Amino acid sequence: MEKKVVIVGGGIIGLSCAYYLSQDGHQVTLIDRGKIDSGCSFGNAGMIVPSHVIPLAAPGMISQGMRWMLNSKSPFYVKPRLNKELISWGKNFYRSANEQHVNRSMPALRDLSLLSKQLYQDLAKHSAEIAYEEKGLLMLFQSDKVGEEETHAGEIVKSLGLEVDFLSKEEVQQLESGSKVNAIGGVHFKSDAHLYPHKLMQFLLESCRKNGVEFKEETEVESIKVENGKIQSISTSSETIVGDEYVIAGGSWSSDLAKQLGIKLSLLAGKGYSFTLMNPSERPIIPSILCEGKVAVTPMGKDLRFGGTMEITHVRDTKINQKRLQGIVETANSFYPEMDIQFPKKENQWYGFRPCSPDGLPYIGRSIKISNAIIATGHAMMGLSLGPATGSIVSSIIAEKEAQVNIERFHPDRRF
Ligand SMILES: Cc1cc2nc3c(=O)[nH]c(=O)nc-3n(C[C@H](O)[C@H](O)[C@H](O)COP(=O)(O)OP(=O)(O)OC[C@H]3O[C@@H](n4cnc5c(N)ncnc54)[C@H](O)[C@@H]3O)c2cc1C
Repeated sequence: MEKKVVIVGGGIIGLSCAYYLSQDGHQVTLIDRGKIDSGCSFGNAGMIVPSHVIPLAAPGMISQGMRWMLNSKSPFYVKPRLNKELISWGKNFYRSANEQHVNRSMPALRDLSLLSKQLYQDLAKHSAEIAYEEKGLLMLFQSDKVGEEETHAGEIVKSLGLEVDFLSKEEVQQLESGSKVNAIGGVHFKSDAHLYPHKLMQFLLESCRKNGVEFKEETEVESIKVENGKIQSISTSSETIVGDEYVIAGGSWSSDLAKQLGIKLSLLAGKGYSFTLMNPSERPIIPSILCEGKVAVTPMGKDLRFGGTMEITHVRDTKINQKRLQGIVETANSFYPEMDIQFPKKENQWYGFRPCSPDGLPYIGRSIKISNAIIATGHAMMGLSLGPATGSIVSSIIAEKEAQVNIERFHPDRRF
């Protein structure tokens, strides 16, 4: 049955929902407070990562995080605040960072990721522009200790049925023919892929427009009217919008939106940075993570993007920390010693907020509190990767069909 669906948020998650819902014949309105050409879904590293089956909340993360907190150039930081949300998020993270949680979550994340990759393969057939490529993801390391950790992670991923190669220093250089690499070895996740996020977003936007999606850009949702366990309408500064179903895909701002529905969504912003070299004369050809500095490197068409850092903070903290950006540049130069990567000019520095749940899993599903609201957020470092799967599952939920994969672990009302 055709429904009127209102989506809040025009990042990769909101746009993917709009894409699949409009294809299924629904009448879709998408609201975003900004123009749909900026934000977290544009400057990210563009990696599609079925290999990322181990959620952020995992054993060892707390002690590693503590060590990183002491280094001003490190890839991880929690901005200390005496704030109820941060304390509760921290407690939930602590409760989730155990082996049982990891073991239960891995198959669910793998299945969601593989569904998304399959959908990306379909999308790539409609647009060469998005520069979708399947070259895998190379985890590069410079020390034995990190090498052991990465090899262990690689073995776990392999045991879940994904293709993984363990490479020596020489094998790394053979695979990475674009640039000299300073690493003692690598783990190659062959199931992974990558694309150009900006081009993907443009493709989705144009396809949605063709499918009749109505976009309300530069329009902020100010209040949501709830009665009898149902959303009745959404009010912006200029109008009141009524739908049959509502999708909350507001990224790092989703907990504020959920609060208006009486739903407590534990979610914090994980700020990260990137910069892009346009058409550099030399560049690596395989997407890689430079493990010691957790820097992501992605060839995108002719360009090359470096991204990294995870600063757990709040959405008003929009400052770009120059020291941490310097950390990204130093890591990149240390792994690619012949590239001479320069510190990016102010106008080329980008930041985005990853919407981070405390257990490292997204929130996808209907809350039992509000019968016509679907929550789709909390994808943290994997929003691009999991976008199409999330969009297509939201469309199934609205059609009252069974989701394509098991989404029990992603329930928005779950306890930690
Ligand atoms: C440096 C970096 C590298 C990354 N690399 C990767 C990667 O390689 N692969 C990957 O899968 N992921 C990656 N990510 C993560 C990915 O970018 C995010 O998970 C994803 O963009 C989140 O998408 P979203 O749609 O949930 O949120 P967003 O893109 O933030 O979109 C949410 C939208 O909701 C709107 N909104 C919120 N509240 C309101 C309101 N009240 N009224 C109107 N509009 C509202 C906002 O304006 C915003 O446009 C990376 C992130 C960073 C920072």
